[in-house]
Amino acid sequence: MKNTFEHALPDAQGFFGEYGGSFIPSELQLVMDEITQAYDECRRDPEFQAELARLYKHFVGRPSPIFHAENLSRKHGVDIYLKREDLNHTGAHKINHCLGEALLAKKLGKKKVIAETGAGQHGVALATAAALVGLECDIYMGEVDIAKEHPNVVRMRILGANVIPVTHGRKTLKEAVDAAFEAYLADPITQIYAIGSVVGPHPFPMMVRDFQSIIGNEARVQFQEMTGKLPDNLVACVGGGSNAMGLFSAFLDDTDVAIHGVEPAGRSLEQEGEHAASITLGEPGVMHGFKSYMLKDAQGEPQEVYSVASGLDYPAVGPQHSYLKDIGRVKYGTADDNEAIAAFFELSRQEGIIPAIESSHAVAYALKLAQQGVKGSILINLSGRGDKDIDFVVENYGAQYGISELVRRYTLPT
Ligand SMILES: *Cc1c(COP(=O)(O)O)cnc(C)c1O
Repeated sequence: MKNTFEHALPDAQGFFGEYGGSFIPSELQLVMDEITQAYDECRRDPEFQAELARLYKHFVGRPSPIFHAENLSRKHGVDIYLKREDLNHTGAHKINHCLGEALLAKKLGKKKVIAETGAGQHGVALATAAALVGLECDIYMGEVDIAKEHPNVVRMRILGANVIPVTHGRKTLKEAVDAAFEAYLADPITQIYAIGSVVGPHPFPMMVRDFQSIIGNEARVQFQEMTGKLPDNLVACVGGGSNAMGLFSAFLDDTDVAIHGVEPAGRSLEQEGEHAASITLGEPGVMHGFKSYMLKDAQGEPQEVYSVASGLDYPAVGPQHSYLKDIGRVKYGTADDNEAIAAFFELSRQEGIIPAIESSHAVAYALKLAQQGVKGSILINLSGRGDKDIDFVVENYGAQYGISELVRRYTLPT
């Protein structure tokens, strides 16, 4: 098994080929250099690694199992396996890197972790890690998202985090990123920015990938134990790309393993603002401190993007994905809203597993591969569970799937 923290890429400046790097104000570069150096020490430090391994095992519940989805396999004529990140404490893969970032913050002597959140998933995972490790936590969140994602706001508050409403512009994720960034610039000494995916300036794409690579390292061993072979195909959804890099990184040298990243096609790939297919339809450029494939509008600003899965609507992808696309090691495709929702119900009803709508994109794509006659086995990274999505799905798709009566909530007769 490969060591979690040993990967050849990126280079010392944080470049994966031409992608990545660090495009930020010089005062912030000093802080990034400090983080890079601290991380470098952490990854060599057996104590740090032992502590992280202990938390993965006893707090998160790792290793997460691989499940052979036999009903789905039989029905769709291909062998489907699921890496069950949905079974992690807090219900998704994000806790893997939030714990790493929180431990690093502690080691650097920081008092507080800060971050932005859109749907609240990163906020909840970070608030969880901060509570455990003993750090303050400020989460910047657009007012519109605060209203939409009420249960996650409540979770963060229960966990002791401050949720700071962002009240300007469209009051959603983009403004929250700007607000968190500003707050960080104002005080990069006592606090540290904990980025929520394999994006941002060096060292974050490398560091978040390394923390997530536990997924692939486990899966590689587990799958061989189960089947005596490696999987023929890997499939994972790509928002910023952390769960995908986590699974993919252990298999990059296994050239017989085909690797597929799945972006959200939303309502339409034809129309700007109706999808978030950053690598499929974007171009190389710089935003949020790094170079990668991204979707920009006519003014060169990040495009408005959309997906039914709020965890996937980001106008760029992590730089290593851009590199893997260019060298042809990973193939990137899409699944749209309707395909994802169909897969959400298919997995729920065939296997008794309700997936996150984000993860449903990966399931949908695997079913498309099956339809196209792909051979052998498919290992899907089931990045999260769908509890957070059930009300939304029933309200918007209940009628279509024959459960609309649940929308009219029952009231007891008086
Ligand atoms: C946030 C999230 C994603 C997307 O993030 P990546 O960095 O692309 O992995 C995918 N699945 C779930 C369940 C999420 O919460």
